[in-house]
Amino acid sequence: MTIVRLALDVPLHRLFDYRIEDDARLQPGLRARAPFGTREKIGVIVHLAEQSKLPPEQLKTARRVEDDDLPPLPPDFFQLCAFASQYYQAPLGEVILQALPPGLKKIRAVKRQRPKEANAPATSDTPDLPPLTADQSAALEILRLDRGYAPFLLYGVTGSGKTEIYLRLIDAVLRKGQQALLLAPEINLTPQLEARLARRFPGVRVAMLHSELAEAARERAWRTAFSGAARIVVGTRLAVFAPLPALGLIIVDEEHDLAYRQQEGIRYSARDLAIFRARLTHLPIVLGSATPSLESWSHALRGRYTLARLPERAVSGARLPVVRVFDTRRQKLTDGLGEPLLEALRQRIAAKEQSLVFLNRRGFAPVLACPSCGWVSRCPRCAANRVLHLADRRLRCHHCGLESRIPSACPTCGNLDLHPFGRGTQRLETRLSELFPAARILRVDRDSAKSRKHWEAMLDEIQSGAADILVGTQMLAKGHDFPRLTLVGTIGTDAALFAADWRAPERLFAQLMQVAGRAGRADLPGEVIIQSEYPDHPLYRALIAQDYPGYAETLLAERRAAGFPPYAHQAILRAEARDMATALAFLREAATRPCVADYPDVVLYDPVPMRLSRLINQERAQLLLESASRPRLQAFLPLWRAALEPLPRKQHLRWHLEVDPVDC
Ligand SMILES: [Zn+2]
Ligand SMILES: [Zn+2]
Repeated sequence: MTIVRLALDVPLHRLFDYRIEDDARLQPGLRARAPFGTREKIGVIVHLAEQSKLPPEQLKTARRVEDDDLPPLPPDFFQLCAFASQYYQAPLGEVILQALPPGLKKIRAVKRQRPKEANAPATSDTPDLPPLTADQSAALEILRLDRGYAPFLLYGVTGSGKTEIYLRLIDAVLRKGQQALLLAPEINLTPQLEARLARRFPGVRVAMLHSELAEAARERAWRTAFSGAARIVVGTRLAVFAPLPALGLIIVDEEHDLAYRQQEGIRYSARDLAIFRARLTHLPIVLGSATPSLESWSHALRGRYTLARLPERAVSGARLPVVRVFDTRRQKLTDGLGEPLLEALRQRIAAKEQSLVFLNRRGFAPVLACPSCGWVSRCPRCAANRVLHLADRRLRCHHCGLESRIPSACPTCGNLDLHPFGRGTQRLETRLSELFPAARILRVDRDSAKSRKHWEAMLDEIQSGAADILVGTQMLAKGHDFPRLTLVGTIGTDAALFAADWRAPERLFAQLMQVAGRAGRADLPGEVIIQSEYPDHPLYRALIAQDYPGYAETLLAERRAAGFPPYAHQAILRAEARDMATALAFLREAATRPCVADYPDVVLYDPVPMRLSRLINQERAQLLLESASRPRLQAFLPLWRAALEPLPRKQHLRWHLEVDPVDC
């Protein structure tokens, strides 16, 4: 008998010791069935051990999952998990298990699956490769894949042909018989990528990995990736953990996108883990974006990443759209729409071209209120208002999902005349259809594009030219080609200029650059109309000049002066409890743990309520930590976490640590 340490899918995710029958194939990375309480669980063997801290009589016996032909998970999988566990302060067992498709963690009768033959490493000997622009050729000269670990930042304006670069790089990797991992921030972006890969690499197996797949499909995709049969793996953030035996290249598309950040459970950044993985396995990694994150941009400026640029649009004749900012203080607005934008919409309709009006707020109006007594549609469970959705006649909290029918009268005073305040996409859609009764208007947001099917149907509708005006949120901003779209107008972006969140301007700039990038991608010139009360704000000026590097320089100078990331490293301790006093008291207690005094170079700020201070009846508070030294912060965190574990938790208090928070 040997002793094995198992990661088990049980609460707290500790590693557990079991005895197991010796056999020649026994090794870490295999799965085992283990009795746990009154049930049996599937676990992953993390270590083989000579002895256990437990006395022998307490060791139960596990047995291998024999009826399965899954090879052991490789050492680099465990190294990546160990890094994530240590860096993000999460239990190793939990990291390992969340990295596996759910089907592999279940007790079931396993059909022995015959591994399909890996198809010959087919290449892109397709008849007509698009010719490269001079910029693309120059970028490919820089993106050399033969030097072991090499991080690249591919900064390319929208429409500059980043995807073509990815395809060429993938082709080179396939020719070497290796696998390529391509990460995309959102599931919505994967169908287009999938189709493009299938056209370019016919006969090459592509595995899609994302959380919306049904369990069996996800497991199948994961297995083809792990077996090496899939030469190209496309996935959202969870795919960063997929074990790939012949990995030769990692690409992170839209690297700046916050969707790479996991916000629940283990709070990791898939982009950052991808970089660690590339370093661990001595591979090249390409981060691509039209608006790189300031972190990546500053790495490139300092030479830690090699910068490749695509400064022009790839289609000959296609130019970046003309951006104009209109001062809304001097205009009469019709539901947020100024005359220049209305006139531009009229012209597009006459010319049978498409327009997009961007408003990043779903619903009809953000709040319903009673003018006679002051009642507003608060969420009873959150520190937020419920949003008025006229399309399905509901009041809905966008934080917790709580919804109810729209009251016919004020719940407090009985007034029948309730007013919606502010505007969301539904209201804009309604108004536009009144203003342009002959136009076909399509609203695209998370309410109208509920499922992938809906979304794909909408994309078809847009691409076939069946819509004249699109009303949409940031869903529409990312990565899609709409050849007939020549006008983008924006509403209500000013709020982000003065938001409490100091990252808001960076995000707004990226968002507006992306949404502006939808206009005029083919042979039709594009125009962008931004409506603002602050037309001279540096953000809008940079947008007019489409000057990402210039604006990044401004923001980086501000961050340096303020001592914010990337010039400082942060972590955050968050606590939630039934009442705010308990949450704050816990954080104050945390700040006085003895180890804090040993790390004077880690600064702890005062505990404060979170911006959304109540969510589903839990009061939430946070304590920000900061250090100029990442190693010092990383040395401090495990000690501190250990010191927090024994603190009493009153009133169902829960806490977690988040490293490199993006929302603080
Ligand atoms: Zn009232
Ligand atoms: Zn709520």
